Amino acid sequence: MKKIAILGSTGSIGTQTLEIVREQKDIQVTAIAAGSNIELLEQQIREFLPSLAAVWEEEKANELRIKTADLNVKIVSGMEGLLEIATEPESEILVTAIVGMLGIRPTIAAITAGKTIALANKETLVTAGHLIMPLAKKHHVQILPVDSEHSAIFQSLQGEQENRIHKIILTASGGPFLGKNREELKNIQVEDALKHPNWSMGKKITIDSSTLVNKGLEVMEAKWLFDVKPEQIQVTVHPQSVIHSAVEFEDGAVIAQLGTPDMRLPIQYALYYPNRRSLSGKRLDLFELSSLTFKKPDTETFCGLSLAFTAMERGGNIPTVFNAANEKAVAMFLDRKISYLAITDIIEACMNQIDIIKHPTLEQVLDTEQAVYEFIESRW
Ligand code: NDP
Ligand code: MG
Repeated sequence: MKKIAILGSTGSIGTQTLEIVREQKDIQVTAIAAGSNIELLEQQIREFLPSLAAVWEEEKANELRIKTADLNVKIVSGMEGLLEIATEPESEILVTAIVGMLGIRPTIAAITAGKTIALANKETLVTAGHLIMPLAKKHHVQILPVDSEHSAIFQSLQGEQENRIHKIILTASGGPFLGKNREELKNIQVEDALKHPNWSMGKKITIDSSTLVNKGLEVMEAKWLFDVKPEQIQVTVHPQSVIHSAVEFEDGAVIAQLGTPDMRLPIQYALYYPNRRSLSGKRLDLFELSSLTFKKPDTETFCGLSLAFTAMERGGNIPTVFNAANEKAVAMFLDRKISYLAITDIIEACMNQIDIIKHPTLEQVLDTEQAVYEFIESRW
């Protein structure tokens, strides 16, 4: 039996991880954490019988304790609770499927405790990659990508340890607003932005995909995971989402991973790495595809992508500024407090405002997040 813990078990990645557990039957879930959805969390506790579960607020934790009083499960809360989930002694793998910088401290704790990380929570790597990657190396811990593009790159790199990456081709669907200009994006409403053409995901990443900020975060995620320079990463718009990403090697050979858009494949690959397992669901049928198309991203309209490259090139705490500003702005957009285009305006304003720190400590990363939040609250 493989033993895993999941941060964010009630979300899009979390529930798909549990689908795999249900299907494969040889994974034991030892610990799970959610934000506030205690109804679903209770169902998951009853089905998967973890010994530890966490919710964010102590009040909700108390409610859950009463609901699960007949079971042998300890319920914890807050950041302390997430740290306990991350380091639960029995688990071998931590699936990080929570959203945002909240994942940094639990990820660090899990690495320090020697857990393999199945990483979906890209915001952690974007903001603290400079701390996470050396720490993982020190503790001989593997960070296995769950993000579909990064899993595709990782799969393309198998058996290539001796060979240098020339270039990473990071594919992007282009999102629901592909082909539109800024004028046409002015009046975009929350409902419009929540409709992704190919993937069904949590709200925050769905908005990020529509602005191409998600691709910007993924560029930074790739830099840390595969140790490449910004100029080695080429974003290619590929609306069919069949080629999940590719690697070009020094001899010009391009190796890619293809498939239907189904997050369960990269999740399962990370859980059983380096082995593959059968997976139910639709298979890629090349005869069903009329064409595969590729074009350069429109970074004038979708300036979030160019801002991400700027943030990556400036380095230090600037990727944290980019990410924290986006997290806050997306939450405000979802609350209908700002317009769609204000999301990237806010990111840019924050990147111009906050002082650069070249080699930020964990405290300085978290302080930068706070400074960004305060600046946004004072201005918008
Ligand atoms: P969702 O919004 O669907 O799920 C988020 C999960 O985190 C939920 O279980 C939520 O609990 C939990 N959560 C929220 N706040 C807290 C908190 N304070 N403490 C503990 N748990 C909390 O997100 P996704 O699954 O879409 O995304 C998760 C991560 O994976 C993100 O970083 C995203 O960028 C990345 N990712 C997602 C992909 C996808 O297809 N969805 C693809 C590639 C990457 P609750 O339900 O109670 O709110
Ligand atoms: Mg992705």
